Amino acid sequence: MNTHQDRNTGEAVLRGMRCKCPSCGVGSIFNGYLSVKQSCDNCGEELHHHRADDAPPYFTIFIVGHVVVALAMWVEMAYVPPMWLHMAVWLPLTLIMSLAFLRPIKALWLVCNGHYVWMALQLQAKHLVLAQHAPIRGKECPRKT
Ligand SMILES: [Zn+2]
Repeated sequence: MNTHQDRNTGEAVLRGMRCKCPSCGVGSIFNGYLSVKQSCDNCGEELHHHRADDAPPYFTIFIVGHVVVALAMWVEMAYVPPMWLHMAVWLPLTLIMSLAFLRPIKALWLVCNGHYVWMALQLQAKHLVLAQHAPIRGKECPRKT
């Protein structure tokens, strides 16, 4: 099992794409399709505070829309099929791609968001330690007192 010191961005991205816990990479972060677990079943990392809001649907629509619209336009220009065939192909494809992409995109968003919050906290802690031990322009840092 990895500790917090072992985390890096590439690892966070891979764990997110696999819908796995950002800390251990073993436990799933979802209860069902999109519900985030309170904590990891494997390592106990708290997951409930990670928030995704509207970002995963936004990125899903962005990706699926660009793929489906580009394909539909190419097929229309190349073959000029009837409208019923467009509807029979592109509507189910849009639904299937949206459902397939939404979960890993949400997991990726949650894991990367948690990873960057963790990095910011580490950086903040490092600066606090430096500020407490380094004089600023010949004066002691006011935080030291
Ligand atoms: Zn875990």
